[in-house]
Amino acid sequence: MNTASILRVATNAPLSRLFDYLAPTDTAVAPGCRVRVQFGRQTQIGLVMEVANQSELPISKLRSVTEVIDTSPLLAASDLWLVKFTSDYYHHPIGEVVAAALPALLRQGRPLQDVVQRLSLTKAGLQTEPAQLSKRAKRQAELLTLIQGFDDPTFTTLDEAMPGWRRLKKSLLDKALVVEITTIDSGRDKNSLTVAEQESGPPLNSDQSEALASIRRVDGFRTTLLDGVTGSGKTEVYLRLMADEIAAGRQVLVLVPEIGLTPQLVRRFERRLGFEPVVLHSGLSDSERLSAWRGAREGSAQLIVGTRSAIFVPMRTPGLIIVDEEHDASLKQQEGLRYSARDLAVARAKKLNVPVILGSATPSLETLQRCREGAYEIAELPIRAGNAVPPLMRLIDLTRFDAQDGLSEPVVKAITKNIDSNGQVLIYLNRRGFAPTLICGGCGVVAECTRCDSRMTVHATSGLLKCHHCGAQRNVDAVCGECGSHCRPLGHGTERLEDALQNRFPGESISRIDSDSTRLKGTMNKALAMATSGETRILVGTQMLSKGHHFPNLTLVVVINADQGLFSTDFRGAERLAQSLVQVAGRSGREERQGEVIIQTAFPEHPFWNEMFGGGYSKVASNALLEREKAVWPPFSRIALVRASATRREDAHEFLQHALKLTQQAAIADVRVLGPVGAPMERKAGRYRAQLLLQSRDRHSLHRLLAILRHSLEGDKAARRVRWSLDVDPIELF
Ligand code: ADP
Ligand code: ZN
Ligand code: ZN
Repeated sequence: MNTASILRVATNAPLSRLFDYLAPTDTAVAPGCRVRVQFGRQTQIGLVMEVANQSELPISKLRSVTEVIDTSPLLAASDLWLVKFTSDYYHHPIGEVVAAALPALLRQGRPLQDVVQRLSLTKAGLQTEPAQLSKRAKRQAELLTLIQGFDDPTFTTLDEAMPGWRRLKKSLLDKALVVEITTIDSGRDKNSLTVAEQESGPPLNSDQSEALASIRRVDGFRTTLLDGVTGSGKTEVYLRLMADEIAAGRQVLVLVPEIGLTPQLVRRFERRLGFEPVVLHSGLSDSERLSAWRGAREGSAQLIVGTRSAIFVPMRTPGLIIVDEEHDASLKQQEGLRYSARDLAVARAKKLNVPVILGSATPSLETLQRCREGAYEIAELPIRAGNAVPPLMRLIDLTRFDAQDGLSEPVVKAITKNIDSNGQVLIYLNRRGFAPTLICGGCGVVAECTRCDSRMTVHATSGLLKCHHCGAQRNVDAVCGECGSHCRPLGHGTERLEDALQNRFPGESISRIDSDSTRLKGTMNKALAMATSGETRILVGTQMLSKGHHFPNLTLVVVINADQGLFSTDFRGAERLAQSLVQVAGRSGREERQGEVIIQTAFPEHPFWNEMFGGGYSKVASNALLEREKAVWPPFSRIALVRASATRREDAHEFLQHALKLTQQAAIADVRVLGPVGAPMERKAGRYRAQLLLQSRDRHSLHRLLAILRHSLEGDKAARRVRWSLDVDPIELF
């Protein structure tokens, strides 16, 4: 037996296993360091996951690592644990989990510490008048002036201020007017910024104090659901908990579902805590991301606020994890590594032995059930904080009132009344674009996407038909390709609603907020600021506008159409609909004036409305839990999907038939396998999609089967013609 030091490396391969390499003899390499390795015919950057002293392969067959990139580990043991846990739980290739956990620049092999180069003036440089330089050296003089105007400018600053300056550098160096200095940017400057004035918060009400006390009662790991109606002051409770941890020198990680929610929340944290939180989200540049990541790793970032991928950020002194809007679907990644940031937050907190708070006004049924079972604690904030009272809700029967341009008469009246009394109105329609499709007035044919089983949406501003599933676009047809008759838009999207409102309420300031109107950087913040100040009188928007925002003047919310949700084929349909209605309703009447919510439906007799108006979200949730228990759906069982797609339908189905056979051979009792079936929208972007559903009351049985499946399917010939993936705890069944 050889006692050489073996590095077990996660490489960038779609495989679950680690690969063994020999460690260099002259440097010690610890788990968590990056190494460059020869992988097949390529050189790759891998992460050392384990150091061992033996390999399953003969030592003579092992290659040595080409280069050791880090002298000390990037990831500590508990961070590596999270990577390993994620790979195991989601049955996903470990190298791809590492990729999710490391910022792009580190994946590319850049050093952790950024080297910063600057030019600094010498004594001569300080004293030399640029005009004294030779007349032929005009550009040099210009550069000298520039440097004299800055305090040791970095090369990046100079790049921006004077493109082409680098060619002149040598001359100034030769004349001994400047020197080059190289420093290491440790990222420590992150978070040292303090804001001028620290605001104090309102005194807590008794529900808040009780919630806070109950959370503080336990040291170490515990999961608490903070179940508080919208505007009940959950954020105030977070703020007290954060302040505790920060004062004790520990770090706090806050996960939020969407980037749209962050600016307001981050400013609030900042004003109250007195320093700038470190923010991690997809809108950052690579170097901003690295800098934030580094601050978190070193512990200088005391508060980290991020979207789902921030769950992987390393922390030196973790003290608390908060998941805000824990029910939100965007906390689950829906492609590639399909992880739930909420579920990983609980697992990570347990490993770190720190508390985790899940906050929501509409908790997921999974979380509610865990509370019922006693696995999670629950703290409730049943009433709105301050003087705000819950909004009045009413239903408008669209079979009794005509809805011109989507707006029924009672809705128009209510909007008028609200505006006349200086209120603000939010109109919610979860459909962007002008109209959901284009129809021919002659033969009735509708515009379909050629690559998906779906219709093209009409976008009036750009004059294009767009497919929201694959991104395909083409010009709006004026006449029908089949019969030559005129085509017209069918149905309503936010653009059309905005037009209609503009016509009905001329002169009012109307603003549309959806992913089309906020595509340009900064437009979202500007629109939100105008809405918050009350300058905008009517807001039209998709779900982007429905969550988390606090618009003080908003007194009326109109839901244009809730009916899509009533007839959803997904077992989560009722839960989702109730959540989105409660969230959007929660924007109304958050301060002094009572709010109003009007929902239009063509199905007022649907039993859902009885539950919703009779007992609110908790009634919908407890009924849905009863139904799920009967049908053995989650949270009363665990499910997973094997998804496959291919350019030919048969290939996807054949592959899943093969997977089905594997599950039969594995012969694990108590796992039910359903399918394969085509997805309801079977064709997307030219590929046919199908899936196999695995379901079990026993998590361990399900995971045993998934492990067998992944192992057999990796490298399987049958997999060559398809793209396949496993989705553990899927939240969309299709
Ligand atoms: P949530 O996070 O539950 O939506 P917030 O913490 O944002 O609720 O509180 C909603 C509003 O009520 C905010 O304007 C907040 O400043 C205010 N608020 C919260 N707690 C109190 C309190 N104890 N007394 C007075 N106002 C409060
Ligand atoms: Zn036609
Ligand atoms: Zn398409």
